[in-house]
This record gives sequence, structure tokens and C-alpha cells, in this order.
Amino acid sequence: MAALQQNNIILKSIPYTFKDASLLDTRAFIGGKWTAAASGATFPVYDPEDGKVAFHVANTSRDEVRQAIDAGHKAFLEYKRFTHRRRRTLLRAWTDIVRANRDDLAAICTLELGKPITESYTTVDYGLSFLDWFQGEIERLYGDTIPAAKADNRIFTVREPQGVVAAITPWNSPIAMALRKVGAAIAAGCTVVLKPAPETPMCAIAVAKLFERVEGYPAGTLNVVLGDAASSPAIGEEMCHNPLVRHLSFTGSTTVGKYLNGECGKSLKKTSMELGGNAPFIVFEDADLQKAVDGLIASKFRSSGQTCVCANRVFVHRSVIKQFVEILQATQEKAFVYGSVWDPKVNFGPLYSQRGVDKVAKHVEDAISKGARLASGGAIKKELGPYLYPPTILVTGEKSPSKTDEAPMLFMTEETFGPVAPLIPFETEEEVLSLANTFQSGLASYFYTENISRLWRVAEALDTGMVGARVGLISACEQPFGGIKESGMGREGSKFGVEDYTNVKSITLGL
Ligand code: NAP
Repeated sequence: MAALQQNNIILKSIPYTFKDASLLDTRAFIGGKWTAAASGATFPVYDPEDGKVAFHVANTSRDEVRQAIDAGHKAFLEYKRFTHRRRRTLLRAWTDIVRANRDDLAAICTLELGKPITESYTTVDYGLSFLDWFQGEIERLYGDTIPAAKADNRIFTVREPQGVVAAITPWNSPIAMALRKVGAAIAAGCTVVLKPAPETPMCAIAVAKLFERVEGYPAGTLNVVLGDAASSPAIGEEMCHNPLVRHLSFTGSTTVGKYLNGECGKSLKKTSMELGGNAPFIVFEDADLQKAVDGLIASKFRSSGQTCVCANRVFVHRSVIKQFVEILQATQEKAFVYGSVWDPKVNFGPLYSQRGVDKVAKHVEDAISKGARLASGGAIKKELGPYLYPPTILVTGEKSPSKTDEAPMLFMTEETFGPVAPLIPFETEEEVLSLANTFQSGLASYFYTENISRLWRVAEALDTGMVGARVGLISACEQPFGGIKESGMGREGSKFGVEDYTNVKSITLGL
């Protein structure tokens, strides 16, 4: 039915008819032209709701990535001369066009990621909030005037765009990730070659389709290259080694981030690394338990647990853990509606793939084998498709007060990236801070207390780039987003997000 009205590009029926089916394209965007791979190669994109193929998308070769970088460089030579006001006007025009197409963008996100449609709208709006914010930042990219030591010198600085930015994004929030990176780089005066994750290329393509409609950007200001897991190493190598790329901005796992950062180091390219986390969520004995449960549900279960800032290890003071579990179970049972991801009432969707399901199942089985008790969830809801893993609560440390000293369960050392909340009892503030800070990840952390001294003390003591002190949702366009340690470097969003794509040039003037 609907498939035939939609450019014949969607390979399955969906209960949504696109207002503008021309947003559906399966080609790369290079130098202002939509291009299939010269080799004719394509790769499949699946609908996670039923596991069926939804699209076949062009598989870009390394040579085509080089062409995209060349096009980005050519465009940069022109675009870098645009005034800040002109850049701002163009970015506003793109933002308006994206906003006018939010229904179709949300639908693409739901189709290729399996996100419930209401959540897809949230991520489109989250992405739009960055475009709105970056517009304002463009004209606030100030330099400094510095008092010179020499009487006949004057020193000032200007912020200049860096050049071609290669941007690599993951699948878990495809529209927001693309808008957050591309919006900031373009605001700074850079041009971009974007490589989206192979699971969600259509979101990036649609965003580029809308970019193309803005009159005034030089051709090649935004390029999109596409590749599956087999071709991404060659794409990554070109991005890391091509001298015209001046900045690699990557969001994804720590393993891949370390590799790409190492490759970029060979030619001293600037990098921004938004990597994996393993967020601790701490509930102190003086916390408002209902507030903490609400925060945990928001932090842990939104997007089915597939965000980098999701709580991963939930530490609850031993004196309140029993009560906390009861409130959590009761609240969680009422919180979620399951069903078709196209139904606006549904607020919990499938994991993105079998790979996601396997990892979650492995973490749950491992925890149970090491003594955890399954308090809810713990198995696929087959009647709702192959990848629907429900909210799962595990309670650990019930067998003996010293169980937290045992060989660590997998979730203690690895991101689960799924809807599993493992509860771990603790006794003292010192002990829990040591557990929270033990590992090399340092993206986000959360804690709940009603004690104002502890609020400051713990916020300062947590080794993460972001802290939620009595909040479970911490991402906003005006807030610096990023991690420390092996969770990465650089900040996205906020004034730092745009500054990251500029070089500070100092100019010394002789009188
Ligand atoms: P991933 O395996 O690292 O992949 C991320 C992206 O990198 C994908 O587009 C992937 O494409 C690409 N990629 C992998 N190897 C590459 C290479 N050698 N050269 C070029 N591109 C390459 O991560 P993921 O599993 O998709 O995403 C989940 C991870 O991202 C989690 O660890 C999560 O915490 C993290 N994340 C972090 C943030 C943040 O802001 N800190 C936000 C969201 C997600 P292929 O699949 O084709 O290889």
C-alpha cells in the first residue's frame, strides 16, 4: 500500500504516507550531487520492528570518500569567507526547513531505528534545538584583545574555521547526532563530510536533502557518504589520513574512538571524541525515593536503554534498597505502553538489532549466574517482534553483605546499552564513590540526595564530564555534552560545541 506511493524506495509497507517522498533517497551526496556508488554496490537497511529489509543504500568506495573531501575543501575556500551574519541567515533557513519536515523525519527515524514515533519526534526536536542554539552562537564567536608587554605592540585574536570536518555518527539518535555535529561545524564556518551508521543512513540523507534546498551554500558544504560495516574501515582510513580533513568528529564506542584518534594522531588532526559511558546512578539513604525512581526510569529506560548517558550501574544504599525495588517495580509497570511503534501512545520500542539483544541477554544471564535476582523482565517479548527486550530489573548483593566484592558482573565493566537496571547495595559514601569512579569511562553520572552538603560534595567527587544531581535527564543544547577519561574529549552543544571547530589565531600588530 503506502510503499508504492513512496518513490518505490521503501521495500515494505508501513502505516505512514510521506508528505514529501523525495526525502527518501538511497544515494550519497557528494559535491552537491546525489550519486549511487560507481561500483553499483549497495547494502541493506532493516526495520527493527520486524527485522525486514526496508531499504538498499549505496555503498560508497574510498575513492568516492576522497571526492567528497575534495568537494568539501573546494566549498570551504568559498564558505570560509562568508560573514557571520550570512552564515547565520543560511543556518536559520536550514533550521526552518528541517522544522517544517519534522513529521517525515520522525517517520524515517521510526522506520530505520524502530523508535516509537513519539520518541522519534523528541529526537528530531532535540536535534532542532541544537540548530536553534548554534545560530545564536555564530555571531558570538568573539576574539580577545590582549595587553601586549611591548609598548609598541597590540595583540588580538580571531576565531577561524578549521576546514573540512569528517563526522562519523552512531545509529542510536541519528537525526540529533547529525544535526548536532553538522550544525556546529557549519556554524563555525567549516564544511562537512558526514558518514552515518549503516543502520540509520536514511536520517542523514533526509537531513542533507533539506540542506540542499537552502539557497546560498556552496556545493559541497555538506556531503554524505554511506558504508556498511565492511566498508567503514576504508572510509575511516581516508578520513583519518586525508590531509584536507582538519578535524574528525566521532561519536561511537571507545574501542573505535581510540583507533580513529590514534590514526588522526599520525597527521595531528584535531579530533572530537564522544565515546561510550558506564554511568553510575547513586541513591543515598536520604534521597526522595520516588523522585529517584522517576529519574532512574527516565535515565535508564528511555530509548530502550540505548543512549550513551543511560544509567548502567545503579547503586542504592542498603538501608533503602528493599523499599526502592518495590517503588521501582510499581512505577515501571505503569510507565510503559507497548505495541506498534507507529502508535503515538506507545513509548517503549525494540532494540536496534539482534546484536543489541544478544549483548543485553548476555549481561542478564551473566548477572543471574553470579547471584543476581531477576525482579522483572529478562526475556524478549516475542509477540512484539524479534528485538523487543522489556525493562529489566536485577537485584544484586542479597545473598551476603560483602557480595559487592565478588568478581564483577559484566555490567560493572561494560556498557549494557539496553533496558537493564542492575541494583547494587552500598553502605557508605566513600565506598560508593570509589565504585562509581573505578573504571576508565567518565561520561555521565547521577545521584539523589536531599542533603545539600552532600549534593555539592558528591557532584564534585564524581569523575565524569556530566553529572545529574537529582535529575535523570541531562542533555540540552545549551549544556556542554561530553566525557572525560576514556569517554572522550571535546564538547558538543553549548558555546564550546561551536568553538571546537575553530582555531584561535593571534595577530600581533606593530605600531
Ligand atoms: P561503533 O561501533 O563505535 O560505531 C559508531 C560509528 O562508527 C558507526 O557509524 C560505525 O560504522 C563507525 N565505525 C566503526 N568503525 C569505523 C572505522 N574503522 N572507520 C570509520 N567508521 C567506523 O558504536 P555503535 O555501537 O554503533 O554505537 C554505540 C556506542 O556509541 C556506545 O558505546 C555509545 O555509548 C556511544 N555513543 C556515545 C555518545 C556520546 O555522545 N558520548 C552518543 C551516542 C553513542 P560501522 O557500523 O559501519 O562500522
